[in-house]
Amino acid sequence: MKVLSDWFLKNKRALPWREKRDPYATWIAEVMLQQTGALVVIPYFERWMKALPDIESLAAAPKETVLKLWEGLGYYSRARNLLKGAAYIIENFQGKIPSDRALLQTIPGIGPYTSAAIAAFSFGLRIAAVDANVNRFISRFLTLENKALVEQEATKLLPDKDPSIVAEAMIEMGATICRKKPNCLECPVQKSCLAFLQKRQYELPLTSKRVAITYLKKTVTIVCFKDQFMLKNPEKEGIMADLWEFPSDFFHTEEIRYKLPIQKHSFTRYCVTLTPQIIFPEVIDFIDKREFSWYSLEKMKNLTFSAGHKRILKDLNDYLKQEL
Ligand code: SF4
Repeated sequence: MKVLSDWFLKNKRALPWREKRDPYATWIAEVMLQQTGALVVIPYFERWMKALPDIESLAAAPKETVLKLWEGLGYYSRARNLLKGAAYIIENFQGKIPSDRALLQTIPGIGPYTSAAIAAFSFGLRIAAVDANVNRFISRFLTLENKALVEQEATKLLPDKDPSIVAEAMIEMGATICRKKPNCLECPVQKSCLAFLQKRQYELPLTSKRVAITYLKKTVTIVCFKDQFMLKNPEKEGIMADLWEFPSDFFHTEEIRYKLPIQKHSFTRYCVTLTPQIIFPEVIDFIDKREFSWYSLEKMKNLTFSAGHKRILKDLNDYLKQEL
């Protein structure tokens, strides 16, 4: 695999989490990267490391701060687990992230991939960290049809000396060359790639059946009354826990003052189309405080919104700037 490590050392992207391979930075970066591309993650990672540079600062941070730093990355359970994980590391490992993979997996939110990434990249252990990129690359390179074999076979390809370079090169290959549509012409391992030699690169990796997407349409009503805006209180549990939103499908009789741009928002198996409208009622009837709260525009800046409603908030700000 020398050809792969040479290619990687020459071509690797300059990513901030590669500069400092301490276990905390690797942990944060790998969790952020689980559902999101590297370019999107960079500013989030940099902001996070500035605000919460180590385990102690994360463990002491209020949940609202952690969620605000995560706002826009989606899958907020990851952020909540980082907070729980930091407390667990302080309590069980005296604030030091362990190098042992089994111990790493006892930490909330750290599973097989993240434990492998921390052990490989921060502690230099000879372990392949198999994410979707590595799965795609190795499945093709060795024509593996069984996903369960990928980690074992990828590990066999790691050298004894500096195994993390090849482990990371595998990720880079999947992310930049051996993508869904592979760029075989520029691939450094083309000559030894079994899928290329057998013309099977588009057939592998074998994929499981796709989950059907559910399409939803919602009318979002922004209620403005005396410079305050009505928000739906966040749910306590579930994937939308702790996230603020404007009321959806809220019954009202007032004239719609303005319609903001439509927003499309996808998460898990849902694709939601949000149609936002603004109303300025003159009187407000009874509002159930268990369900709704009032916030000024200024105070809303400190709240964490779901992705679609964050964009609506931005459009609302732009609209009000024009109006005032
Ligand atoms: S030759 Fe093509 S299929 Fe094989 S590893 Fe390279 S990019 Fe992937």
